[in-house]
Parts: sequence; C-alpha cells; structure tokens
Amino acid sequence: MSAAPIDRAQARALDAADPLARWRAAFDLPPGVIYLDGNSLGPPVRGTSARLRQVVDEEWGRGLIRSWNDAAWFTRAERLGDRLGRLLGAEPGETVICDSTSVNIFKVLAAALHLRPGRRAIVSDADNFPTDLYIAQGIAAFVPGVTLRLIGVDGTPASLLDEQVAAVLLTHVDYRTGAMLDMAATTRRTQTAGALMVWDLAHSAGAVPVDLAAAGADFAIGCTYKYLNSGPGGPAFVFAARRHHAAARQPLSGWMGHAAPFAFARAFEPDPGIRRFLCGTPPILSLAPLAASLDIWEQVGIDDVRRKSLALGDLFLALVEQRCGGALISVTPRAHALRGSQVSLRHPDAYAIMQALIARGVIGDFRTPDLLRFGFAPLYTSFEDVFDAACALAELIATGAWDRAEFRRRQPVT
Ligand SMILES: *Cc1c(COP(=O)(O)O)cnc(C)c1O
Repeated sequence: MSAAPIDRAQARALDAADPLARWRAAFDLPPGVIYLDGNSLGPPVRGTSARLRQVVDEEWGRGLIRSWNDAAWFTRAERLGDRLGRLLGAEPGETVICDSTSVNIFKVLAAALHLRPGRRAIVSDADNFPTDLYIAQGIAAFVPGVTLRLIGVDGTPASLLDEQVAAVLLTHVDYRTGAMLDMAATTRRTQTAGALMVWDLAHSAGAVPVDLAAAGADFAIGCTYKYLNSGPGGPAFVFAARRHHAAARQPLSGWMGHAAPFAFARAFEPDPGIRRFLCGTPPILSLAPLAASLDIWEQVGIDDVRRKSLALGDLFLALVEQRCGGALISVTPRAHALRGSQVSLRHPDAYAIMQALIARGVIGDFRTPDLLRFGFAPLYTSFEDVFDAACALAELIATGAWDRAEFRRRQPVT
C-alpha cells in the first residue's frame, strides 16, 4: 500500500473492477446506510419476504399438514444443510440446519464426551464467545466428572492437551479481534492428543473459505443469521464428520432425531445419519430466508468473496491509519492468513464513538470494553462504502462530535 493519501477516486476504481459489485442489488438495504454489521446480523436478501409469503400462503395456507410430504418439509433441514455444507467443505449428509448455535454446542460437546468415555475434560479458550463458555460450563456442572480448561487462564494449548481431554471447542474467527486460527494445524494438534475437534464457525460461514474435510474436523456448529442472512434468530447448523455418525449420541434425543419418528416407538433409536443431531420439529418458516440466501451463495465463489473481504479490510485499515492520527488502534491482525472478515479498533470511548457513527448512517457495533467492530460482507459492501465509513470515523475523531451524553447512553444491545 502506498503512503500517498487514498482518495475517493481510488475507492471508485476498485469498485469498477470488482466482479462481485453486481450482487449488492441482491440485498435489501435501506438508503443512506453503510452497513458494516453483517457479521452480527446480515440484511435480508431481496426476495426473502416473497419467499416467506409463498411458504405461509401456499405451502402452509393451501397445503396445510400435507406439506410435510408434498412440499418436502420433512427433509428441508437436511437439504439446506447439504447446500450450506458445500460452503464449508462438508460432504453431503454431514450438515443439518437446526436449533441455535448455543443448543448445537451442547449437542456436539455431549456427543464428543460420549465418544471419548475415558476422558472428562473440555478445552476452550478463555476469550471464546461467552455462549460457548457458558454451555461448556453448563455441561461441566451437569455431567459428573466433567471439567472445563481454558487456554489463557489454566494454561497453554500444549500444557492443557493431555490424555484427559475429550474435546477442544474453539471459534475459528475471534468475534472480538477478527483473528483467524489455522483450522488444519489446530485440528491436527487436537487429534494427535486423542481429543475431538469442535469448530465454532459463527464468523466463518459465508465469510472465509472453510474446508472441514481437508482439516479433518470432527464437529462444527455455527450461525446462519450473520454472513448468511437468514434473519434474526435464524436456525443454526451442525456438521458431524461421517465417520462419527454411527457412534455419536447426543442427549437431546427428540423424536425428529429418531430413525423412524412416525413409528412412534417407545424407545429412542437414533437416525443412522446426520438427522440424529435434530431434536424437535424444524422451524419451517425460519428456513425460508436461508434458502433465499443460499440461492446467491451457489452463484458466487468463496475465493472471490475472500479476496474482496481482505481488500476491503486493507483499505479500511490504511484509511484509519492515514486519517485518524493514531487515535484508534487496530487489534485485528494485518496478515491475511490470520484475519477473518472484520476489523476491530480500540478506543477508550468506543461505545460513544460507535453510537455517533451509527447516527451518521454508518452501522458497526461495540464490543466491551473498548472495541469498535466493523464487519465486511463483500456481497453488499463497496470500496466506496469503506471509504465513506473511514471518513465519517475520522471526522468524528477530529471534531470530538461523539462526546455527547446521548451517545454515551447505554442500550441493552451494543
Ligand atoms: C454469534 C455467536 C454465537 C451465537 O449463538 P446463538 O446461539 O445464535 O445466540 C455463538 N458463538 C459465536 C462464536 C458467535 O459469534
């Protein structure tokens, strides 16, 4: 990157040469907003409400209960799972859409403990997303003998990975810093120690290339409402490598995970495949937006998305460096191999600055205690958006216009 100041013309030139630029029109974004929070909640894909209406009015309204068969509701979560799984390097039959990421963490950790009966420890990272830690804590409190060891508090990966460890639960891209782990190397280290590797892909699915098969991952879970635009609370996914299907048991053994739910048998017998990770009736309405989103993902290449994501991040980092006079410190690795699809900047007044930025139409978010977080979703974010966002941020820093009571007032969701 040259040291000469970057100007709008350069950003526009990058947009003119961008092969993904045409996809912006495929998303419903309000005018006057630069949306850099798709890592928290993606916007709707254009056509989502029409698809929802079709499911409500036709499949449900006309077909009624017949749609479980006639509209193939019964297998929809698996078919969408297969479509999503292609983005993650999974084979057909290894991914299913269900429940929330939190609930799915419970299922796969319990399954991993069951697959490693002589081992009773779960390893995670002290800085992992809280729900991951809370669910692991819940399992440790609930299952006799299970303990949770945290990298950064209880030791290093090398010191914590011993013959007691059943599962290692890590998030591939850190929600705070955007730092990305080496999936293949980490998986190898975990498995060499005899433990199973569970990946949280909340900030990876639809954001960075993921190859679960090449990495040899055991389990993975993640959200679809972030980079995959399934809507607030949209159902999550579970990946389980096929080699574990026969033996993996998860304790939320609801009837939809049964080998034959409509046999109404008294005893639970798990489905032979990925359906054993289902619990109850799938949320058919909530699956509709994900289907609309996957229609797009099947027409774009994740490598193109990655290339643009890194270029957007590079541009933002360079602009912040040039225009914000050192007031904001990036906590995101500059090296491409170590970075996801977001940039986080540290400032003691990050909360008020982000609120002021949002008031100017640039939407990112705040992560306690002092981070401004900007997610880059290359399908609908332009280089000029990034230019404008960085200029708005620089102006706020230069003028101090963020320093007002209205911007310091804390809302429940940050
Ligand atoms: C967003 C996120 C979650 C969210 O879990 P939900 O059950 O959908 O609330 C979990 N893990 C990570 C790493 C996340 O970033």
